[in-house]
Amino acid sequence: MRITCNVCGSKSIIQSTKDAMPGYAKFYCICTNPKCSHSFVASWSYEKTLNPSLQQTNELLINMVQRMEPAQQKKLIKQLQLTYL
Ligand SMILES: [Zn+2]
Repeated sequence: MRITCNVCGSKSIIQSTKDAMPGYAKFYCICTNPKCSHSFVASWSYEKTLNPSLQQTNELLINMVQRMEPAQQKKLIKQLQLTYL
């Protein structure tokens, strides 16, 4: 991740990182421009999901199938067998 100084626009170095919580982090930075040397805190945060994680997809699918009526489950299994055999 490239962080630039908001005062002079030079490259900054991340000196330390603090993960406040999942999906949010603080970066303690210092500007590499010797004539500036601005030190500051920048943050990163999760915004939104574009495609769900495969782990989430699998869990969602299993939960959905487990909540189906047995007859619906059998119908689904039959459809999958027809599709993949
Ligand atoms: Zn600077």
